[in-house]
Amino acid sequence: MSIEVKNITKRFGNFLAIDHVSLKIPDCELVALLGPSGSGKTTLLRIIAGLEDFEPGHDSDILFKDKSVVGNRIAERRIGFVFQHYALFRHQTVFENIAFGLRVRRGPGRLSRAQIKDRVMELIHLVQLDNMQKRYPDQLSGGQRQRVALARALAIEPKFLLLDEPFGALDARVRQNLRRWLRRLHDEIKLTSIFVTHDQEEALELADRVIVMNKGRIEQEGSANDVFHRPKNAFVMDFLGSVNLFHGRVVAGRTVFEESPEGKTTEFFVRPHEIELLPDNPDGNGFPATIRRVQLAGSIAKIELTDHGNKEIFVEMSHEKYSLYHFDVNARVFVVPKKTVIFAEDYSI
Ligand code: ADP
Ligand code: MG
Repeated sequence: MSIEVKNITKRFGNFLAIDHVSLKIPDCELVALLGPSGSGKTTLLRIIAGLEDFEPGHDSDILFKDKSVVGNRIAERRIGFVFQHYALFRHQTVFENIAFGLRVRRGPGRLSRAQIKDRVMELIHLVQLDNMQKRYPDQLSGGQRQRVALARALAIEPKFLLLDEPFGALDARVRQNLRRWLRRLHDEIKLTSIFVTHDQEEALELADRVIVMNKGRIEQEGSANDVFHRPKNAFVMDFLGSVNLFHGRVVAGRTVFEESPEGKTTEFFVRPHEIELLPDNPDGNGFPATIRRVQLAGSIAKIELTDHGNKEIFVEMSHEKYSLYHFDVNARVFVVPKKTVIFAEDYSI
């Protein structure tokens, strides 16, 4: 089922938390809402879920499958919610936690005891917690607890899944495993899902589409590839990966970089892997800098330098390439940007 958010604005007192946001999420897509802390991700998710109201506007609306749900009761929206710190019931087993939403259901959709048991056991298998149904939450790891939370959200057969930094409290390795697992699960159960995160790597790896938020607004939306390789502005480029900001001028068709900009200069954004380091500067395309630190543990060599104004520069290259240079710490080299990006507006990092 598709989700459409039309021209939604939300204020807390005078503070504008959501600023005229519109977005569409097609059926069965997994979309990441990515932005720094305080950018309005949780507020937007809560508005979609019906847990938070918004400013009335003549064309403001929330639609599920092209039908407005404003004014519907929360239960009618059929949403599964998973939070960062999902409060599982501590004194209930895995089985009872997952069964909760089914047991409290009233009316024609109510299931018998046997049906509840079948459904819960099916969910336990789906989230790969077989044989753990009798455990209590404190007998589980963080990752297992979040899988129980997910099974509990899925128990009511939701039409949508809203996940608010569900792996935020887990350590890096577990997060990475769970995100791959969630992606496979999503492809299997085919729900329309919104995954909130402030972690760009998580968003890029997990989602079909990424919506980048900042200060209550959408900065850009597109495929992971799009937002990473074709950022619309400096905020998106900076937020989606590390970036160097250089100042310079274009003089007679070539760029002259300035260490301490005086007067009007152009801002050049350069990803760390788009920089070459050379022992000298025959073409005059580079500027001098000193190597301060080299990190060789990991899949690539990471080199930190400072220019003469003591500004930090980050460079990444393959180990093979780095080993050809024979550069040491404190070596003076020339920094040659290979691919620069210029945006219309100035930006400060
Ligand atoms: P995110 O999830 O991206 O970190 P939130 O949606 O939680 O951001 O918050 C966006 C902004 O709105 C923050 O500055 C936050 O302090 C503010 N905010 C959120 N909820 C409330 C509230 N209930 N009352 C006042 N301010 C709030
Ligand atoms: Mg949040």
